[in-house]
Amino acid sequence: MLKAVQILGWSSGLTIISQRLTRTRHSSSSSTSLKLSTFSSSPRRILSFNPTRMSSSQPGSDPLPNSPTFVSVQSSGDVRKIKFCQWCGGPTKHEIPDGEEKLRAICTHCGRIAYQNPKMVVGCLIVHEEKVLLCKRNIQPSHGLWTLPAGYLEVGESAAEGAMRETWEEAGATVEVISPFAQLDIPLIGQTYVIFLARLKNLDFAPGPESLECRLFALDEIPFDSLAFSSIYVTLNLYLEDLKKGKLKFHYGTINKRPGSSPSDIRAFTLDYHLQP
Ligand SMILES: [Zn+2]
Repeated sequence: MLKAVQILGWSSGLTIISQRLTRTRHSSSSSTSLKLSTFSSSPRRILSFNPTRMSSSQPGSDPLPNSPTFVSVQSSGDVRKIKFCQWCGGPTKHEIPDGEEKLRAICTHCGRIAYQNPKMVVGCLIVHEEKVLLCKRNIQPSHGLWTLPAGYLEVGESAAEGAMRETWEEAGATVEVISPFAQLDIPLIGQTYVIFLARLKNLDFAPGPESLECRLFALDEIPFDSLAFSSIYVTLNLYLEDLKKGKLKFHYGTINKRPGSSPSDIRAFTLDYHLQP
């Protein structure tokens, strides 16, 4: 299991990364937002958690990708939704290029191929005095639901820097990243979550434009019935499970939607290929 972590290039040691962020809010809200999906809440306790495979079937919502460009690039892999070239604006055709195996969107003017690659979402699991910091979303999707501060990694920043930036943007909090906690791949929608354990540098935090509210939740008060995304649900469950076992670990896993389940059901998934040291 340790080998898997080493392949990822991550150390399980206590690596302190810190960065002083300016007090100027830099928001990329429109480009970091995720596609709207609906949520219906139901009374539910935390599901019992299997360390090698997690699944549930309770209602919720799930993130779907949203392209920041006018080109409709959908991370779900449907290249037919890419109708125009992002370089020259020309119309695309959908064919399998020579030497390749997948259907691609190819510009009929300049010939460029619009390859689709997963996006990395980075965020922080901030722990303070046995509480975790959550933000109530003020943007779609999942408006009004709770999440860890997280968003798309930007070009030019490391994953840890991006996680700290998102934390600043969404929670107004300055944090120190302690260690990587989870990498969760969601192949269906072309996203990889990288969540870092972090601590508050001070108690000054306040909701940014993308958040309605930011709160420290005691561990038995985490609003599992009102979480925004499967990835957050998994992350928080992994954290609680680690605490029960008395040791925090790094987790890798793949979140797969259950066939036939609603895209809006954040608990209709299995956590597959779960690796931990
Ligand atoms: Zn073109």
